[in-house]
Amino acid sequence: MRFDLMTLFPEMCERVLGESILGRAQDKGAIEVHTHQIRDYTLNKQKQVDDYPYGGGMGMVMYAQPIADCFRAVCEQAGTRPHLIYMSPQGAVLTQQKARELSQRANICVLCGHYEGVDERVLDALVDEQISIGDYVLTGGELPALVLIDCIARMVPGVLSDEVCFTEESHFSGLLEYPQYTRPAVWEGRPVPEILLTGHHANIRKWRREQSLLRTLQRRPDILEKADLTEKEREFLRQHAGPAEGKNGQNDE
Ligand code: SAM
Repeated sequence: MRFDLMTLFPEMCERVLGESILGRAQDKGAIEVHTHQIRDYTLNKQKQVDDYPYGGGMGMVMYAQPIADCFRAVCEQAGTRPHLIYMSPQGAVLTQQKARELSQRANICVLCGHYEGVDERVLDALVDEQISIGDYVLTGGELPALVLIDCIARMVPGVLSDEVCFTEESHFSGLLEYPQYTRPAVWEGRPVPEILLTGHHANIRKWRREQSLLRTLQRRPDILEKADLTEKEREFLRQHAGPAEGKNGQNDE
């Protein structure tokens, strides 16, 4: 899968995406990431990328022209027209389901805004969808773009060692993940739940599923409605509905 990123801060994005799992995924060719400096496409001598807003008001607005020309260059380099996403606090809030859908695409281009945002006309003319990473405002689209690319890329075949690495995680099936533990078996007087030391895989699977259900019930009851549950699991939840929460929103089991 190929990602193109249009930004005023390509080095910042390259540094983050070049590290750890996504860096290795690029080294082995599972994903490609190409960053593009929007400023390189300005037509004025000062390389200015923004101007005052028509009608007055605070801040600066990014010009349409360099963004449009940058996107044309991206299309040429990629040999196709990528799906163009503008990171915006006004977009639909990113979900695991949305990232999963986007991971099926071969080419995605992400536009990062800055300052007060981008001239609306280039958004109308070129952008396929706008995505937000939450109901708050950041100074630029770079961090949101990195969040989006990370979330999509880890579902691209070959990026993680196995699909199970993401299919069993929080939000994939509509539930939060069960609690995880590693060595030692007792840490500062706190033992690991005994069931995990039994080696009985069927019982461990059942315990983990129940923990996922309880955790979701207590921390995110709002997402349970859409979760894919059996009638038996719904009954289990009805029996456990309404217990008092433990510390940090955890159940005390
Ligand atoms: N004036 C804009 C508004 O009120 O909707 C906010 C502009 S914001 C200061 C600058 C840029 O940061 C935006 O163009 C967008 O690319 C990015 N941005 C800020 N918050 C974001 C969020 N929650 N999700 C995605 N992108 C965001």
